[in-house]
Amino acid sequence: MLTTDFFQIEELLTPEQRLITQVVKEFSDIEIKPVIEGYAQRAEFPQQFVKKFGELGVFGPTIPKEYGGGGLDYVSYGLMCQEIERGDSSMRSTVSVQSSLVMWPIYQFGSEEQKQKYLPGLASGDILGCFGLTEPDHGSDPGGLKTYISKTQGGYLLNGSKMWISNAPFADIAIVWARNEDGRVQGVIVERGMEGFSTPTIHGKWSLRASATGELVFDKVLIPKENILPDALGLKAALQCLDHARYGVAWGAIGVALDCYETAVRYSGERFQFNKPISSFQLIQKKLAEMLTEITKAQLLAWRLGILMNEGRATTSQISMAKRNNVEMALMVARDARQILGAMGITDSFPIMRHMMNLESVTTYEGTHDIHLLILGAEITGNPAFK
Ligand code: FAD
Repeated sequence: MLTTDFFQIEELLTPEQRLITQVVKEFSDIEIKPVIEGYAQRAEFPQQFVKKFGELGVFGPTIPKEYGGGGLDYVSYGLMCQEIERGDSSMRSTVSVQSSLVMWPIYQFGSEEQKQKYLPGLASGDILGCFGLTEPDHGSDPGGLKTYISKTQGGYLLNGSKMWISNAPFADIAIVWARNEDGRVQGVIVERGMEGFSTPTIHGKWSLRASATGELVFDKVLIPKENILPDALGLKAALQCLDHARYGVAWGAIGVALDCYETAVRYSGERFQFNKPISSFQLIQKKLAEMLTEITKAQLLAWRLGILMNEGRATTSQISMAKRNNVEMALMVARDARQILGAMGITDSFPIMRHMMNLESVTTYEGTHDIHLLILGAEITGNPAFK
C-alpha cells in the first residue's frame, strides 16, 4: 500500500517524536482497536484506559516532569493525539480533556500547592478530571454563563450547572468556570464528594459513545478558598485552555482520517465487482486520491502549527483554522471511505461508521465548525460576526 506519509513528513520529526508515534500507534492497535467497537456499541466508557494512558505517558505530555508530566514539546503531544484517535475519538477526548483542559489550567493558573496536589495524580491516571464551561443555555456563547460563586464563611458557595461535560460521570475533579461577585469568570477546582455536587450521565448519544458525557450540578457547594485557581480570572483564561485542546483535536482528526483511508485502500484492493478489484475503477481512485491529498495538507498544517506552539507564537485563529479544516477533512475522508466499503461500511466489522459518528461531536465541541469560521472571519475583517 502507498504510504500515508506522502510528503515524507516523518523526516520533519525528531527521533524522539518518531518513537512516540510508533509507541502510541502500537498502543492504539493492540489495546484500543480490538475492544473499542464493543464499548461504543454498549455506550460504555472503558475506564481501565485511564490508568493505562497514565502509564503510557499521554496525560500532560507538555507539563514539566517535576509535576509528573512528560516535559515534551507540542508536536509530540499532537502525534500522541493523532495515534490515540486512530483508535477512537472518545479515547482522544479523554486524553485532551485531562491534558489540555485539566492539567494545563492547573499548571498555568494554579498555585504551587495546587500543582503539587493534583498534577502528579492526573499524569499517572490515578485521578481523572473534567472541564466544565458549557451550560444548558450557553454553548457557543460561554461569556453569558450563569453558574456563580459567592463569598461565604470558610470559602465560596458554588451554584448552577454545566452540560455536555466529557469525563464528568467518572471524574474525580472538575475545573469549573463560574461568575464571581465582580461579574468576572473565575476558574475553580471542584472535587467529587463535596456536598451538593453531582454528575448525572447524559444518555442517548449516537456519537462518542465510548466517552462518558455528563452534567455537573452544583447546589450550594462549599468551595474552600484553596480550590480557587488564583490566576484563572476572566473568560480569556478558559478560552486559552480551549486553544490548547483544539490544537490536539486538529492532530487527532488526522488519526481518524488515516484509519479510514487505510481501511478504504485495503478494502478496495480486495473487493471485486465486474471481475475487477473496485480500486481499478476511476471513481474509487478519485476518492482515494482526494483523501490522500486532504490528509497530506492537514498533516502539514498540524505540523507547522505544532512548531508555532513550541515557539509560543500560535494564534487563536491559526488554531481555529487547523481544528476546523482538519475535522472537516476527516469527515470528508470518513464519508468517502464509508461509500467505498458499500454495505460493509455501515457495520462494526470496520471502524468507519464509528469514526464518522464520532466526528459529528468533534466538529461541534471545542467550538463549532461555523464558530471557527467566524473567528477567522473576525481576524480577516476586524469585524466579529458572532457578537
Ligand atoms: P449552540 O451554541 O446552541 O449552537 C447551535 C448552532 O448554532 C451551531 O451550529 C452553531 O455553530 C450555531 N451558532 C451559534 N452561535 C452562532 C453565531 N453567532 N453565528 C452563527 N452560528 C451560530 N463543553 C465543555 O465545557 N466541556 C466538555 O468537556 C465538553 N464535552 C463535550 C462532549 C460532547 C460529546 C459534546 C457534543 C459537546 C461537549 N461540550 C463540552 C460542549 C460543546 O463545547 C458545545 O456543544 C459547543 O460549544 C456548541 O454549543 P451548543 O451545543 O450549545 O450549540
